[in-house]
Amino acid sequence: MELRKDPITRSWVMTGDDLADGVPRPETVCRFCPDSPNRTQVIAAAPNAVSWSAQSVVHPTPLYHIEGEPGRRGDGIYDRMSSVGAHEVLVENPRHDRQLWHASDEEIGQFLRLASERILDLKRDPRVKYVSLFKDHGPNAGQEFAHPTSQLTATMFVPRRVLYELRAGREYFQAKERCVFCDILAQEERQATRVIEAHGDYVALGPYAPRVPYETWIIPRNHDASFERTGLSKPGLRTNLAALLRRTLQRVRALTEGFHLVLHTSPNSLHPSKTLGYWKTIDDDYHWHIEIMPVIAAKARSYTFKEVYYSPVSSETAVKQLREARIDG
Ligand SMILES: [Zn+2]
Ligand SMILES: [Zn+2]
Ligand SMILES: [Zn+2]
Repeated sequence: MELRKDPITRSWVMTGDDLADGVPRPETVCRFCPDSPNRTQVIAAAPNAVSWSAQSVVHPTPLYHIEGEPGRRGDGIYDRMSSVGAHEVLVENPRHDRQLWHASDEEIGQFLRLASERILDLKRDPRVKYVSLFKDHGPNAGQEFAHPTSQLTATMFVPRRVLYELRAGREYFQAKERCVFCDILAQEERQATRVIEAHGDYVALGPYAPRVPYETWIIPRNHDASFERTGLSKPGLRTNLAALLRRTLQRVRALTEGFHLVLHTSPNSLHPSKTLGYWKTIDDDYHWHIEIMPVIAAKARSYTFKEVYYSPVSSETAVKQLREARIDG
């Protein structure tokens, strides 16, 4: 597999003929359980009183490899490079049956703190442009492991959606000298029609123009471009965000089993790129957030129209249902 850049949208794609070596084989014994005989190498752990509460381990079939050079090169008008980077599994909980929406706020907080530490650590590599944290849950969402896990990838490029957000954030700031995410949040809180729940400094809302039914964003009220900076400096993230994340996932799960969750945080500003102008203003014009994209099997047809997103449930209706969804507390 290699990375190729679309010269028109300037986004990178991973492509090549995968000869089944990246396909996970069904496992009889979970490799992420604490007593598993075939555990993968541990990179870091969040300790608790008894053992560990969250752990980062090497991905058994990584998409990106630490060894080698990206070897970015031209191919006529095109650009390509090797898939150099890092790919880790974040084990959210030592217990095999304790998903984020069942876990305690303390446990989720430990997981969020470990995620912050890993993102910051991966950004110490000056070649790394971006670190993605994501979770795919459910058979229709591409879930890879039965154990409660999220994944981290460190890449030598900024993923497409984040790049669009960075460019749009910069343009908005240049025109208005305000952060577009702060403005969205202020208007949503004023109107209150698409706010699902606010908890401490964090708000869960349905976006004005959803890409899929029940799409949900979690946004911090206090402006900060970097999740990991907030995660390591503000204990509130570990209690308020943990609680809101747990409750929001319970709401989503009351309506559908599967979802994609992705964290959008600032690119690697420890090592600013000279060619990309947005690094200079990034702290003002970007604002970290979490996006949850539920996967609804019956509405799968809608996802095939990727050129124009088609979402047959409005955010206003979705938010009413999500607010009223039964959750444990
Ligand atoms: Zn397990
Ligand atoms: Zn902001
Ligand atoms: Zn985003």
